[in-house]
Amino acid sequence: MTTDINITIIGAGVVGLAIASKLSETQNSIFVLEKNSKFGQETSSRNSEVIHSGIYYPVDSLKTKLCVRGNHMLYDICDKNDIPYKRCGKLIVATDDQELVELQNIYKRAISNRVNDLSFLNTKEIHELEPNIYGKKALFSPSTGIIDSHQLMKFFVASSINNNVDFAFNSKVSSIRKINNYYQIEVIDHEGKPFLFTSKTIINAAGLEAEKISKMVGINNNKYKTYFCKGEYFSIKPPKNKLVSRLVYPVPFKNLTGLGIHATVDLGGGLKLGPNVEYLDKNIYDYKINDSHKDDFFNSAKNIFPFLTLDDLQAEMVGIRPKIQKKGEAIQDFIIVEEKKSGFPNFINLIGIESPGLTASPAIAEYVNKLILNSLNN
Ligand SMILES: Cc1cc2nc3c(=O)[nH]c(=O)nc-3n(C[C@H](O)[C@H](O)[C@H](O)COP(=O)(O)OP(=O)(O)OC[C@H]3O[C@@H](n4cnc5c(N)ncnc54)[C@H](O)[C@@H]3O)c2cc1C
Repeated sequence: MTTDINITIIGAGVVGLAIASKLSETQNSIFVLEKNSKFGQETSSRNSEVIHSGIYYPVDSLKTKLCVRGNHMLYDICDKNDIPYKRCGKLIVATDDQELVELQNIYKRAISNRVNDLSFLNTKEIHELEPNIYGKKALFSPSTGIIDSHQLMKFFVASSINNNVDFAFNSKVSSIRKINNYYQIEVIDHEGKPFLFTSKTIINAAGLEAEKISKMVGINNNKYKTYFCKGEYFSIKPPKNKLVSRLVYPVPFKNLTGLGIHATVDLGGGLKLGPNVEYLDKNIYDYKINDSHKDDFFNSAKNIFPFLTLDDLQAEMVGIRPKIQKKGEAIQDFIIVEEKKSGFPNFINLIGIESPGLTASPAIAEYVNKLILNSLNN
């Protein structure tokens, strides 16, 4: 049986778009489905836009491998395609003796992860780089930077369209059925009408909804259970937004639920604090910022940024992480699998693609391309 479509990608966030762009170099008949009217309206436009270097995660994890590779790939893509970025560097700052021990651990982990460009700074050296912050000691990562994620996504869309990828916006996948060796997909279009088509391969890059999409086809894997975890940001009002010029992070939370409330510079000259970590009771799109958290942000930040007053902070935005790490449990890796073993060949699931998913996106696309080539050869 020939299917209507060769490859259907569900989700036009940075991950689905990077995959479309990569696969379209060698594959024909690719269709991207997106429930919103534009690409990148969910997590991909609600994050810190940091190009991470791969310091924090366990050595053999996909998070480390794809982040380290993605870091190099992103800088290269930006250089070749005029995508705005800044290799501004990042400081991880310890303010007391206990944090100094953790800083050493981070350094050792970075070395095992083959991130070899970190250096230790003392208080004086910290001040030379960032005269307005306080730290006892810091780790400096020169290969961490910031990127214009919208321009990156625009580039992935343009290169996909050049290679004949079709995009359908306002198109929400509502059910998927496996029939013999292909899939029948039902989509609700912008008028609320259903339409059906068939696809040989499905790539589930639906971000927060990836577990739901996986269940639609009949894959019920407990490991895919996803918890929505909110991250709020407060921006620093001018003129104090000019007092920091690099990314400045505290020593991260235990279990790496988040990297701690950090200061992120952006390409427009803004400075924001965040994100915090707040597991939601229900998986709902709660993009409201809770103004009463301003005090917590101020208290977390005031040691490292002594120039701040409470009045300098103003509510900015919220992003939601698709976490497969249950509250209080150990860090979980990205899940990127072809589901042949569960009885669903040519169905590729991407589950729990939280940070560093933006950095890793081109490397994730390369990884998915290998899975597709393997399944073609078996
Ligand atoms: C607060 C926060 C800060 C972060 N900071 C960083 C950072 O600094 N650096 C970094 O590398 N990473 C960061 N990340 C992680 C990064 O933002 C994500 O890993 C990345 O954006 C995930 O992209 P995605 O394409 O998988 O998901 P999304 O951007 O969520 O895209 C999924 C798409 O699927 C669509 N979709 C869902 N269901 C359906 C359906 N039924 N039918 C059709 N379409 C559907 C959605 O509408 C959405 O557009 C951060 C994340 C958060 C939350």
